Amino acid sequence: MNPLENDIKFLKGVGEHRARLLNKLNIFYIGDLLEHFPRDYINRKSAVKIRDLPFNEYCSFVGKIVSIEKRHAAARKQQLNLVISDGEDFLFLTWFKFGNWLVKQFEIGQQIWVSGILTEFRGAPQIVHPQIEILDDSDSKLDFWKERSVLPVYRLTDGISMTVVRNLVYKAFELYSNNIEETLPEYILKKYNFEPRKISLQKIHFSQHPQKNENIKKRYSFEELFYTQLMLARSKYHHQKKENGHVFELKKTFTTKLKNSLPFELTSAQKRVIREIVEDMTSSRQMNRLLQGDVGSGKTIVTVFAMLLALENGFQSVLMAPTEILAEQHFNSLSHFLKNQPAIRIALLKGGNYKGKTQILEKIKTGELDIIIGTHALIQKDVEFFNVGFVAIDEQHRFGVEQRAVLSRKNKHPDLMYLSATPIPRSLALTVYGDLDVSVIDELPPNRKTIKTFWHNSEKNVIVFEKVKKQILKGTQVYIVCPLIEESEKMDLLDAETLYEILSTKIYPEFKIALLHGRMKTAIKDSIMQDFKNKKIDVLVSTTVIEVGIDVPNATVMIIQHAERFGLSQLHQLRGRVGRGADKSYCYLIVYPPISEDGRERLSVMLETNDGFKIAEKDLEIRGPGDFFGTEQSGMPIYRHANIVRDQMLLKQARVLAFDIIEDDFDLKSEKNETLNRVYFPKFLRREKLFDF
Ligand code: ADP
Ligand code: MG
Repeated sequence: MNPLENDIKFLKGVGEHRARLLNKLNIFYIGDLLEHFPRDYINRKSAVKIRDLPFNEYCSFVGKIVSIEKRHAAARKQQLNLVISDGEDFLFLTWFKFGNWLVKQFEIGQQIWVSGILTEFRGAPQIVHPQIEILDDSDSKLDFWKERSVLPVYRLTDGISMTVVRNLVYKAFELYSNNIEETLPEYILKKYNFEPRKISLQKIHFSQHPQKNENIKKRYSFEELFYTQLMLARSKYHHQKKENGHVFELKKTFTTKLKNSLPFELTSAQKRVIREIVEDMTSSRQMNRLLQGDVGSGKTIVTVFAMLLALENGFQSVLMAPTEILAEQHFNSLSHFLKNQPAIRIALLKGGNYKGKTQILEKIKTGELDIIIGTHALIQKDVEFFNVGFVAIDEQHRFGVEQRAVLSRKNKHPDLMYLSATPIPRSLALTVYGDLDVSVIDELPPNRKTIKTFWHNSEKNVIVFEKVKKQILKGTQVYIVCPLIEESEKMDLLDAETLYEILSTKIYPEFKIALLHGRMKTAIKDSIMQDFKNKKIDVLVSTTVIEVGIDVPNATVMIIQHAERFGLSQLHQLRGRVGRGADKSYCYLIVYPPISEDGRERLSVMLETNDGFKIAEKDLEIRGPGDFFGTEQSGMPIYRHANIVRDQMLLKQARVLAFDIIEDDFDLKSEKNETLNRVYFPKFLRREKLFDF
């Protein structure tokens, strides 16, 4: 076995305790340490002058400490001021929060490296809470580092010092550099002018000219993106060439009847997407399609169309939704769309045990049901299908990769469609769903109006409630969303229960108000939602349980309390609960200062646009790819080097190359792809299984 694949705890000088700390830095194996790249470099001999440092930008600087001053700025508030100099000018370093250990390590005359955002304070350059490193050589430093003028600066975690990480990196390289294996074939290195793996690792950690390392960083980002794309390419070609999908025939019986009975005209986007689906379903390969469309764009009817196409050919269809409320709503709207085709047998399958469930399970098995809608209950062991030809998974990102594959595995290669109301930015879609075909409904039904959005501080709450009164008197309905169910000691937030109390006793005593949250029994939640739909409730105070899918066209006002606490896509989803009917709709974002910079940015985006795709791009930019879906099993690979927002160009190149290679050499058997074969299969075989190869 390659020693670089050994647990990091076995590296000399690490052990159990340090290993646990290193794990926090995403370092689990000895080889990971070599991939823990410096986030910056110190040049001890740097001749940069203070007067040349740019204001309001990140910068780093080496100078001598000329003064240390700890003082009381205000009652119980301390401030630490350090002045460093390059021999000509002075730079002020300031800490408002610090421990004594920090003060103790400074001495006048020490050489110190600092970095941070340079600001101006009363005409003088200042860095508040800088990163620092004292450069005087101490015993704990290896001779190797003492002799260098350029030192790498690593990301750290509490309990691990810079010196320790540097020494460990050096040791790992010294002991095992001969075990570093190349991970990209010669022809790819050549194509992009990348250096071999060993040399590039050496340079990234130890080079005295780190400004030349840009292409090395690019290599590592590229490599990560490229291997993911290899897997996606294999998945896609695997499904395409199997030709084991159902070949349905468009018989125009149920489907045409549906089309003729619709109370509206399909949008041209819906028509186009239906054509794409029909093309897939009538071909011999298994459909594997992601259907994206903003909230209210009309994905449901498109799905029903596909179901009826399967049914015309004698096959069952399944629709899986993440929550019972949503499953029920789908059941209701499907029943509505199909009410003049009573021959079509639809059922709802819920979790747990309830009266009548056994009969439903039996009918699913014997083929006496045509369309089955349900929650996770559909993928339980006790469910056996007769012959499923089409599967749709709604809000698919709320299911794990594994769960999504189950319905496909339970049945014989049904045509698959994944629905998403969260528009997914292109770079993310290519990374997570790069093996799927994508259809986009990029057009809302014509009667929709944009939702007028306002941003108010919490002290305006009363005024907003007063304004909204007029809307309620006109007969429309209101949602009010709070981040918490009940009062919390830990967080000082307005909660749904408290607001419900205030509204029903003081502000809207004349209206019918209800409270809805996730801790209520499903039956109660459902009856409240049903009452709201039937206009028996004027104002619904709720947590984010109403976030997805709920469709009440008569609701025209959405008030979001503590809007600063919600993610951008979530805000957009919530706003999408209104504006579903013909009346003008309003969304009030109520914020409780202080608001972070990110929070401000999110809110301004909400005011600027109603376009789900634009919002999703922005959300990805602000939050980063890791948090975008919020679920760990979403299938989003965790990258050490690559950043799909920053590296979009690289991603495109990696994708084109990977698809070309797989098209030529599906199993990576050719001689020139030997390296790819050796690296790819041990790492990705498990994931391929997960993707239901
Ligand atoms: P989503 O894409 O959010 O799932 P739905 O399928 O729930 O959207 O559709 C939202 C509403 O718009 C539903 O009430 C549906 O009946 C209606 N709808 C769908 N397509 C059209 C259309 N082409 N014209 C008018 N209304 C439509
Ligand atoms: Mg929907």
